[in-house]
Amino acid sequence: MDAETEFAEPRRVVVKVGTRLVIDTDGEPHRDFLERLAGEIRALMDDGIEVVLVTSGAVGVGRRLLFEPGKRLRARERPSAAAAGQPVLMRYWAEALDGVGLTPAQVLLTQDDVVNRRRCMRLRETLEDLLGWGVLPVLNENDSVSVESVTFGENDLLAAMVAVAITPAELLVILSDQEGLFTADPRTDPESDLICRVEPGEDVSHYASGAGGPESLGGMSRKIEAARTATDCGIRVVIADGNAKGIVQRIVRGEQVGTCMLARPRLPSRKAWLAVHLMPAGTVVVDDGARRALTQEDGASLLPSGVVRVVGHFQPGDLVTIEDAQGRDIARGLVNFSSDETRTIMGEHSSRIPELLGREGPTEVVHRDDMVLSANEATQA
Ligand code: GLU
Repeated sequence: MDAETEFAEPRRVVVKVGTRLVIDTDGEPHRDFLERLAGEIRALMDDGIEVVLVTSGAVGVGRRLLFEPGKRLRARERPSAAAAGQPVLMRYWAEALDGVGLTPAQVLLTQDDVVNRRRCMRLRETLEDLLGWGVLPVLNENDSVSVESVTFGENDLLAAMVAVAITPAELLVILSDQEGLFTADPRTDPESDLICRVEPGEDVSHYASGAGGPESLGGMSRKIEAARTATDCGIRVVIADGNAKGIVQRIVRGEQVGTCMLARPRLPSRKAWLAVHLMPAGTVVVDDGARRALTQEDGASLLPSGVVRVVGHFQPGDLVTIEDAQGRDIARGLVNFSSDETRTIMGEHSSRIPELLGREGPTEVVHRDDMVLSANEATQA
């Protein structure tokens, strides 16, 4: 099929730009890049396409402002560098966007904001409002409050989670200073080839080599992991060279540039949110019968009778992983009972729940609507 016609034009695109595109190694802005991308974004918006921008660079700018150039930042220094760098980074973007008549709106977030359903919903409303008003949301991690348990790790994952769960998009464009994914590191191996197309679910992680720069955390392997998060939920990803002229517009039009990672069928919004929810509170281990029931085409809910073991402490409404007896990850979902209650009712028929718990309750441990199969299971089902 002709690449021009293969993909429908997206209604919404999330564009992620890496530190090296935005600033040079001294933390000074690449104004040509900023102005060019601002122009591209404006052109897309004029065509009725909604754009969400995810930008790195706060740490790199802050490093210049607070420390000597070239200093290797300690983990403790990154949040302060980001706090000082973020407003200046925004100023660079605001100046470039102002040149094309666009207003940016800064949104800083941590993974907690996606995982917490209420905060996620509020964030979605805010971003939908901004998009509706023709304002460009400009996102970055809130690095100054981001501790290990809530950090996205890097902005590639942030962008993927936003595209999946916050402002559902059809396309995620990850721009860096590399043309895409190569069979080997192109900076050291001249024989390496660009991988143009990755099929849904295809594992290309072994091709990833090369780390990110000193301020960036990404590198190609993290880009691939993040891309996989998006493609598993139904969002196509293109990894491409941000310095190429008209790059985002070419990608949006369906031109073959960079590495295009094709998506699995789209997950409904609530299931997509579950799929990117990276912090399960515990594990429910199920028997083979339950495993088959969950993974068949019109999969069933998880009933207490299929549960054989409960690991961890959780409360009703928490996210749990559902594993089989061999420790394979089958699904994840929102559990209806606490870990203690689940231990009490496991192996029992649902009709005994009121008697065993002394209260009426749902009949399923995890309802089908609150469950998403892991990617491997989804292929088989
Ligand atoms: N949030 C970091 C920054 O603004 C970038 C993280 C990353 O490299 O992905 O500098």
